[in-house]
Amino acid sequence: MRVPCAVPWAVIATISAVLASACGTSSVALTDDEATIGTTPSTSSSSTTLSTTTTSTTSSTSLSTTTTSTPSSTTSTSSTSSTTTVAPVAPEGDLLRDEEGVPLNGQTDGILITNTGWIAPIIASTADGWQVWTPCGRTADLTEGRAVESSDFVIDPGHGGSSEPGAVGPGGLREADLNLQVALKIRDALVGSGYSVIMTRQTDVRVPIVTRGEIAQALDPIAFISVHFNAGTDEGSADPGTEMWHQIESSESKRLAGLMYEEVVATLDSHDIDWVSLSDAGAMSRPNRSGGDYYGVLRRPGPVTSVLAEFGYITNRAEEDLYSDPAIQQQLAAATLRAVDRLVETSDPGSGFTTDPIFRGYGPSGAGRTDDCVDPKLQ
Ligand SMILES: [Zn+2]
Repeated sequence: MRVPCAVPWAVIATISAVLASACGTSSVALTDDEATIGTTPSTSSSSTTLSTTTTSTTSSTSLSTTTTSTPSSTTSTSSTSSTTTVAPVAPEGDLLRDEEGVPLNGQTDGILITNTGWIAPIIASTADGWQVWTPCGRTADLTEGRAVESSDFVIDPGHGGSSEPGAVGPGGLREADLNLQVALKIRDALVGSGYSVIMTRQTDVRVPIVTRGEIAQALDPIAFISVHFNAGTDEGSADPGTEMWHQIESSESKRLAGLMYEEVVATLDSHDIDWVSLSDAGAMSRPNRSGGDYYGVLRRPGPVTSVLAEFGYITNRAEEDLYSDPAIQQQLAAATLRAVDRLVETSDPGSGFTTDPIFRGYGPSGAGRTDDCVDPKLQ
């Protein structure tokens, strides 16, 4: 149980985001990676319980919230009659936005864990609370919740919610659910080793990519790790098709991707199954048309170190079966912890770097539009 040297101990927290239904069918632009593959999900996340455990040595109040998922896929007809106390927010809010109306990242400092379990990046303190960035990228004034200033790691289970299942395996396993199951085990492994962790979601809900990126920036962690499983090839391979995507300009992102590649492939290779892979599987980067990072989960968190982990192919039946096993999920979490420990404690460069990746096109930008997003109840 090694301890990261340069990490403050003030907040050792396991944070849960119980998220009510998220942003409905908003038009978050999706990357190739985010592509949804067909079928009706046959599994669903069962974790509707939030339990936030704070093992801080300092003053943090112990937040323990039990919440059942709050249905909030209501349309926002403005007669907010119920007990909702979220301040009505203008569609434009006070955030700086780009020409497409997407909030620019980097406008917050710290996050508020709302008493309904959401993670809301903090824009400013107010006389009686906080002005926050809602999951849909609006502003709201809240009076309740718990502020967290920083976190060692942010773990991001990709996709989520009925509108964004991610890839779906031939047996019906939804990527969003598998991502969450593995991400929760990663969180537990990291917290068990003394790191503080914030999750971008902890239930089956949808969080726009722009918000995931802002949560990273608001907490300034050692790294942001986005957990995914892949789709897109059925080409047989003797080795796993693991892909670890890193930020083009970040040497630490590249190192973490290489370390995760080493550890994850070593773990998976111990299982003798029929893998699928693209020929360039490895640790690599992908530019967009203007030379920046193509994937929103790498571009949006910047300058925070970020890695997009595609552990393997959920669309390969043999792998779908493998990853469905909680023991295998635990192995992936342990591999991630070893990579994180090596990132923090060594200068190991990692390996498995692909120098000339297959050109995958430029496609949609993955910017994370929030136009039609319906915010959940925040307090
Ligand atoms: Zn994905």
